[in-house]
Amino acid sequence: METAVSGGGVNGSGVIDSGPAGWGAVDSGVVDAEASAVRELVNNLIDRFAGPEVTGRLDREHAFNFELYEALASAGLIGLGNEASTTAPPDPRLEVAVLEELGAGPTSMAVCLVVQYMGMGLLAQYASVAQRRDILTPLAEGCSRIAFALTEPDGGTDVAAAMRTRAKRGSDGSWSLSGAKTWISGPLVADHLIVLARTAEPAVSSIDGITMFLVPQGASGVRINELDTFAIHGLDTCLVEFDDVRLPAHAVLGEVGLGFRQVLSTLNGERLNAAAVALGIARGALDAAARYARERVAFGRPIASFQAQQVRLVDCAIQIESARALLDRAATAAAEGKRADTLSAMAKVAASEAAVAATDTGMRVMAGAGFSTEFAMERFFRDARLYTFAPLTNDMLRNYLGEKHLGLPRCF
Ligand SMILES: Cc1cc2nc3c(=O)[nH]c(=O)nc-3n(C[C@H](O)[C@H](O)[C@H](O)COP(=O)(O)OP(=O)(O)OC[C@H]3O[C@@H](n4cnc5c(N)ncnc54)[C@H](O)[C@@H]3O)c2cc1C
Repeated sequence: METAVSGGGVNGSGVIDSGPAGWGAVDSGVVDAEASAVRELVNNLIDRFAGPEVTGRLDREHAFNFELYEALASAGLIGLGNEASTTAPPDPRLEVAVLEELGAGPTSMAVCLVVQYMGMGLLAQYASVAQRRDILTPLAEGCSRIAFALTEPDGGTDVAAAMRTRAKRGSDGSWSLSGAKTWISGPLVADHLIVLARTAEPAVSSIDGITMFLVPQGASGVRINELDTFAIHGLDTCLVEFDDVRLPAHAVLGEVGLGFRQVLSTLNGERLNAAAVALGIARGALDAAARYARERVAFGRPIASFQAQQVRLVDCAIQIESARALLDRAATAAAEGKRADTLSAMAKVAASEAAVAATDTGMRVMAGAGFSTEFAMERFFRDARLYTFAPLTNDMLRNYLGEKHLGLPRCF
């Protein structure tokens, strides 16, 4: 577990630390070793705080695993060096390693961390000195959490054009925020929300004139209603309403009017991270299905010995390894500062579709047992759907790839 590297590493106590240069300068062999150590650390914590029984029970109770979160924080796996960095984000390969392992077990915690990593990424790039001290540092230390509120009832894929949430600036520089955001992950367990609101009519593109705000979860005028959803039950999904919420001038994150563009700059990382969770779900489901197939007996032999079952399972393994290769390439390109937008879009599509395929296969292999909440398969089957449409739908990513990868005319 002990590795010492110039740019940062897993120290002797099993806590991730990072040198002042961040991770950008670390060579990939060293990062591979760090990523393996990170995976081992995450799995130790899952064994202790989020085994199958605990995760299944919390899913049924719709409850957040605070113990696991605190353990991840103490091990440095929430901040991954953000607390020490100035503007350099953590190495994307380390975030991917944490998220894949969580995705293969307590999936809702993986979703929570996708949001935390995105929030910290935005803060690391755009926060003022005071916001960094008051919001980024406690987040990175795992003492607080953040939610990210972009989607609205009238629009998800085309949210910039459909945005009704508005913030108006008063003569003293303070703001009044009103509107609603839906399908927001984790506001009930968050301390702050990053909220995107229209602050000016767009001059040319609908993505202009939108600003990011840091809104305390308990601010007067904020109402949070949990939605009844069919998956990701270990993290609340909510409708958040804002009724004339008064915010000081310093609640603005980044630049007034450029918030949507600033969010776009972090989307690459979010796609990579969504792909990592989906890959974890796919792997977790395939492992569980293969294990069950080895143990379940029919016609006097394990069902794993039937060719029809093997073909199904192997097809999933091929999809998973293909998605993994794309994700590795995308994460390495991002870490090296190379262009990673199309690779990360491909990785997100491939991994989410591998997760849907693996969980569907798992349900077929397990047949009646797949329906039982005694096994994780039904939870994987439900949870796998999320990253087929979030943060951006796979249809829309294919549109994007048509234009950016193949040079076809823009179709949306
Ligand atoms: C559990 C959960 C957690 C979430 N967490 C968050 C969060 O934390 N923060 C947040 O801001 N949002 C969150 N979301 C919202 C998520 O990002 C949106 O659901 C997603 O962006 C899709 O938007 P939509 O659901 O409004 O679908 P729509 O945009 O209404 O799309 C409906 C269908 O139309 C298709 N479509 C739309 N435009 C095109 C086009 N040009 N070409 C082809 N097809 C098209 C889509 O692909 C899709 O099939 C979450 C959602 C869920 C369910």
